[in-house]
Amino acid sequence: MRRFVVDHILPDQGVVLIEGAEARHIAKALRMEPGDEIVVMDSEGMRYHGLIQSIGTSRVAVEVKGPIATPDTPPLDMVLCQAVLKAKAMDLVIQKVTELGASRIVPFLSRRTVIRLDEKRGENKLRRWKEIARNATAQCDRAIPPQIDGVTDFRQLLSATSREDGLKVILWEQERSRDLKDVLRQAGPQEKIVGMVGPEGGFSREEVVQAMEVGFVPISLGRRILRAETAAMVLVTLCLYEWGDLGLD
Ligand code: SAH
Repeated sequence: MRRFVVDHILPDQGVVLIEGAEARHIAKALRMEPGDEIVVMDSEGMRYHGLIQSIGTSRVAVEVKGPIATPDTPPLDMVLCQAVLKAKAMDLVIQKVTELGASRIVPFLSRRTVIRLDEKRGENKLRRWKEIARNATAQCDRAIPPQIDGVTDFRQLLSATSREDGLKVILWEQERSRDLKDVLRQAGPQEKIVGMVGPEGGFSREEVVQAMEVGFVPISLGRRILRAETAAMVLVTLCLYEWGDLGLD
């Protein structure tokens, strides 16, 4: 059965609406009809059987039936702090790390961030990223979308993360003594990992030093320089492979 995410579902509310692009998708691409059954899920992870009542081009009404079981969330709380990348690359990161199982994405601006954002553009981007994460969540059948924070700057990011627990790593292509494998093996089983990935232009040395001062360990992913989006996907994959649920048991 197809899954759709809606903002909020109250079990006794009777009918929920799917609006905007998702509604158009149901009407035009999927050509669904009243009476078709779907699964509706909300951002807190609750799922219900739904029965389509009516279909318009921008609004689909769904009758909410009984609740259904939700898949588990990964045992590893994987937080990706990602410097804001150019639109396509950032969209890709959001979609892929959602599928892979990141729990939270923290977009930030750093010294060499290429993209410039004022408040309004930042809000528009955030809305778009949440939409991408939401669609990826329904597509890949994960329990709830990752939390996506509002865009912050590097200094604020460091002061916020300095208060967080968990293993903290900053990906730095100039690191020559420590790699991810060493750090993961040495640290042992983790419940939470906070990983930071730079912008297209990379981190400055001072930024890496500042991150180290609040507990981030600089690590290498090898001698080849990966694009930031590749580095983010590799980091999230390897951490969830080691201590998360990229596997069966
Ligand atoms: N400034 C560099 C490339 C930056 S790559 C240049 O233009 O030469 C973008 C980001 O990906 C980096 O900030 C880093 O976080 C991550 N990254 C890419 N390759 C990496 C590697 N081999 N090891 C660790 N991090 C890497």
